[in-house]
Amino acid sequence: MIEIQHVSKSFGGNQVLKDVSLSLEHGQVVAILGPSGSGKTTFLRSLNFLERADSGTLRLGDDVYDLHSANKKQVLEVRRKTGFVFQHYNLFANMTALGNVMEGLVTARKVPKKEAERIAKEALDKVGLSDRYDYYPAQLSGGQQQRVSIARAIATNPEVILFDEPTSALDPELIGEVLAVMQDLAQSGTTMIVVTHEMGFARNVADKVLFMEGGVVVEEGTPDRIFNHARQERTREFLQRVS
Ligand code: ATP
Repeated sequence: MIEIQHVSKSFGGNQVLKDVSLSLEHGQVVAILGPSGSGKTTFLRSLNFLERADSGTLRLGDDVYDLHSANKKQVLEVRRKTGFVFQHYNLFANMTALGNVMEGLVTARKVPKKEAERIAKEALDKVGLSDRYDYYPAQLSGGQQQRVSIARAIATNPEVILFDEPTSALDPELIGEVLAVMQDLAQSGTTMIVVTHEMGFARNVADKVLFMEGGVVVEEGTPDRIFNHARQERTREFLQRVS
């Protein structure tokens, strides 16, 4: 069980998260939707301390972390237990696909090189890149680079993978291959929190959809509830605008 409670965050006088909570079971996929500036990315980044929340807690299994005052050791612990997939991939340009996936295993987790290589190859195979181990990011398409970054996240076998608009930087024709990989992961029981503008993914793959606006969770529920029976006018308006 992953339980996120009462997350708040301001930048200067601008409160961008107002008491946001979310819980999900192991193996579930949550899609977070909402207009630009609603706080989705900030919420996700707060969960692994890329941003420091002003308040809030994160429970991963039996461990509870204070999202405001966690110490260095706890921050590293949370980062070890979570994977993060960025909009812009964030791969090392001077490393091959294999090197990128191995890096975290070898340096942060001290996995022996041979074993790291085996795990990294398996992860790259899972995202359909068995023929690209030795390619550098510049030699890969955006969709392939994003799949490398997904392989990097799954290689560490995290409790949850956080996806921050993973297809927003991609040309339209490359979006499908990344969504297909994410759908495979979902079907194989990976726990995922996905900030996305892809309504098809939210509708068809997510177990739960969260609609955020102005830093608050306006409404949450199953895809059917949110897409077909939204109770809040703001949710209905947003969905009409984007679909
Ligand atoms: P989008 O869909 O456009 O990515 P979002 O819902 O993910 O939007 P956030 O990126 O979380 O929204 O931003 C929420 C608000 O916080 C915005 O008003 C943004 O300008 C502000 N904000 C985000 N990061 C910072 C920062 N580092 N310093 C100051 N303000 C910030």
